[in-house]
Amino acid sequence: MQNLVVLGSTGSIGGSTLDVVSRHPDKFKILALTANTQVELLFNQCLQFKPGYAVLLEEKSAQHLRERLVSAGQDTEVLCGAAALAQVAALPEADTVMAAIVGAAGLVPTLTAAKAGKKILLANKETLVMAGNVFMEAIRSSGATLLPIDSEHNAIFQALPPGYDGDLSRSGVRRILLTASGGPFRNYSPQQLQHVTPEQACAHPNWVMGRKISVDSASMMNKGLEVIEAHWLFNASADLIQVVVHPQSVIHSLVEYVDGSVLAQLGNPDMRTPIAYGLAYPERIASGVAALDLFKVATMNFEAPDLIRFPCLSLAYQALRAGGTAPAILNAANEIAVAAFLDKQIAFLAIPRLIETVLAALPVATVRCLEDVLNADAEARSVALRHLR
Ligand code: NAD
Ligand code: MG
Repeated sequence: MQNLVVLGSTGSIGGSTLDVVSRHPDKFKILALTANTQVELLFNQCLQFKPGYAVLLEEKSAQHLRERLVSAGQDTEVLCGAAALAQVAALPEADTVMAAIVGAAGLVPTLTAAKAGKKILLANKETLVMAGNVFMEAIRSSGATLLPIDSEHNAIFQALPPGYDGDLSRSGVRRILLTASGGPFRNYSPQQLQHVTPEQACAHPNWVMGRKISVDSASMMNKGLEVIEAHWLFNASADLIQVVVHPQSVIHSLVEYVDGSVLAQLGNPDMRTPIAYGLAYPERIASGVAALDLFKVATMNFEAPDLIRFPCLSLAYQALRAGGTAPAILNAANEIAVAAFLDKQIAFLAIPRLIETVLAALPVATVRCLEDVLNADAEARSVALRHLR
């Protein structure tokens, strides 16, 4: 029986995780669930999974949840605040932590789980983008297990040799091919891109996801963040990571070897597959995902990414090559820009412009510890907000 903490249980990944868990009551026990503000959904999840702990960000919503649980006769302990997220991520009884909070808010609790030596199922890619070296060092020194949940990275993990030791060339790997759907605006002209709305950006053709990652997919910043994520996970330099646009999202990524072999992982676009893989690793369990029907897929297409129409991808490569605090600055500026776009304060094409402005405004510093990352994040947010006004 694995004791599981789900950080961000009310989100898209959180919900898919609980769906897989509910299929295997003999294998997993929910120890803690956490959410930002969604009291009602968290209450229902508590009734179904009976966790020892539930966490909400604000005391008012935590009090509301406490009262609801008491009147339902359930004894889940309700905690509140960012410190409580880190606290549940490091509970001694916890075996596995699903890191599924969106954005920079996920960094500290995920890093805490890493320092505590947990098995970490990493969906929160922002942790690696912001603090890749600090996080990977925490994993190494605590002996924690890190399993990528992002579908592309999960595919690469599956296509690399078992027990891959972080040396691509020693494993005979020539390149990593990171697939991208191209998002809802893949075929839009620059003129059309000027007028797209948050609703259009959030209507992804293949995946149902939270709003932030949906906008990132539409701008292709998601793929940029994933290039940086792949760099840290697999110790791959930027030159060895090639983005391939594959609109059907059936091939989740590929690894090319020096002998000409290319290994891929395929499946229906449903996050329950990588989640089930991570939960049961190294075994396999049912995920609820339908079998892939290749006759229905029929055709698979591939194209090179268009860096002119989707400059966010170039900005991410640029930040990865600059190193140090540059990816944290990129991530912070992107979070501010995406929130402003979702709030209809700025146009879609203003997202890369704002990020570029913030990257140009701030010097890149070395990252020695978490504080260096948090300082860069705070500074980049304040510069971005200043440019929005
Ligand atoms: P979501 O918006 O659906 O859910 C986010 C979760 O985080 C919710 O439970 C929310 O309550 C919680 N949360 C939000 N802000 C918070 C804060 N400030 N403090 C504490 N909790 C907070 O997002 P999602 O689509 O599930 O994505 C979660 C993460 O997984 C992201 O990092 C995303 O990039 C990554 N990811 C998602 C998918 C997907 O298919 N949805 C695929 C790959 C990777
Ligand atoms: Mg992905």
